[in-house]
Amino acid sequence: MDSIDAPIQIFFFPFVGGGHQIPMIDTARVFASHGAISTIITTPSNSIHFHKLITRDQQNGLNIIIHTLTLPHNSSDIIDMSSGPMTDTSFLLEPLKQFLVLQHPDCIVMDMFHRWAGEVIDELLIKRIVFTGNGCFPRCVHDNIRNHVQVQNISSDYEPFVVPNLPDKIEMTKSQLPIFFRDPSLFPDRLKTIKQLEEKSFGTIINSFYDLEPAYADYVRKVLGQKAWIVGPVSLCNRSKEDKTNRGKVSTIDEKSCLNWLNSKNPNSVLYVSFGSLARLPHEQLKEIAYGLEASDHSFIWVVGKTLNSSKIEENGSANFLPDGFEERMKENDKGLIIRGWAPQLLILEHVAVGGFLTHCGWNSTLEGASSGVPMITWPLSAEQFSNEKLVTDVLKIGVQVGSKEWVFWNEEPEWKGTVGREKVEFAVKKLMGKSEESEKIRSRVKEIAGKARRAVEEGGTSYAEVDALIEELKAHRVALKV
Ligand code: UDP
Repeated sequence: MDSIDAPIQIFFFPFVGGGHQIPMIDTARVFASHGAISTIITTPSNSIHFHKLITRDQQNGLNIIIHTLTLPHNSSDIIDMSSGPMTDTSFLLEPLKQFLVLQHPDCIVMDMFHRWAGEVIDELLIKRIVFTGNGCFPRCVHDNIRNHVQVQNISSDYEPFVVPNLPDKIEMTKSQLPIFFRDPSLFPDRLKTIKQLEEKSFGTIINSFYDLEPAYADYVRKVLGQKAWIVGPVSLCNRSKEDKTNRGKVSTIDEKSCLNWLNSKNPNSVLYVSFGSLARLPHEQLKEIAYGLEASDHSFIWVVGKTLNSSKIEENGSANFLPDGFEERMKENDKGLIIRGWAPQLLILEHVAVGGFLTHCGWNSTLEGASSGVPMITWPLSAEQFSNEKLVTDVLKIGVQVGSKEWVFWNEEPEWKGTVGREKVEFAVKKLMGKSEESEKIRSRVKEIAGKARRAVEEGGTSYAEVDALIEELKAHRVALKV
């Protein structure tokens, strides 16, 4: 251990999938900007995603390091930003152990999906903080359903039930619940391990900010009894265009082309459509989106990621699945920009021309939309996204629902039941992007939230204070160990 006055050393061990890796890298950068020494533990191939970004941070004087683990002989690296929660990373156990026995950081922040790592870290008596990637609201919803709702006894898939014990009246349907809630025989060991990981940890870091969900932040601490540091939105640490353009992966559109297109549009006139880093939609669904967007007559940027065709995953939506002539028409009348692959999401969301975000409600996208002041059309698919939708539309009232009813498994659906028709897409787009009194109210609420998000991460803000509080607590522990 370093001397008492040396900066606090925090290790960050992010997961490989985009929705978990990206915010943890940002979190490491935030802690470095508060004076800690942040070390990101990763694999050689994954480090390529953020190597340039961290080099820029170092040039700007931040104490931040990447440590790449040496992979065991014969093991291949996992570099897919679309790696799902069940991806097994335990081949990193030995290299992680070897690295940690030589070090003694003040604490390590690990992603919950490295399920196997908790034991190794605890054995070495290193303080362990868990990062789950979600916000306070979905935690409260899921915890109450898990502990107080007999899901198997709910006979109807589509009849709403009220989630008990929450500060607001939140209704869900059985069809919107994760498959492992409906069938407890699925993954019981993995879910138990993840729960224990948190229970035995020093605490948890949450990428949110107090003013976004105050009642739920209090609930997490006081009712669920979790020791939590709420330190976000961490995406706001990306200040330069460079940081915003190639976040996670290198964008398939260059910054200039993207900005030129957006600059040619009126304020609040463009809808940004993205389903995050994981989701794979079947061709039929993409066709419905195309028809719905065209019929709405609003301008859009549509990020087509991986698509799913008869359970076969296709990279970057490159197959020709769009309706005949759609792409040509969108180009000709300059209505739509289609990005196949990876988009510079922050750059787009923060542009003045963007007035709506059709999102799958991944926690990062939800938070990024809210903190950029962009109202949302919610289209949840998987994970805790249906809870996030309720936060957006029922609690914060900063979005409208497209009408998605079915929780679907993230990677493949033998029978895709979640299709949302073109008329619903058109209706939701017109409702959000139109100039009705309701849409103006939604817009003004989200702008107010964006202001609060920025204040939270500035000096004097709640998230800023919580980063400092964790650093101070770790310092106090160091002192206690020395005396
Ligand atoms: N992202 C991006 N460009 C893309 C797709 C995703 O920058 O084309 C980023 C997005 O800004 C967010 C993360 O990837 O930070 C996706 O996380 P989220 O929780 O929204 O969804 P997930 O990918 O985990 O389903």
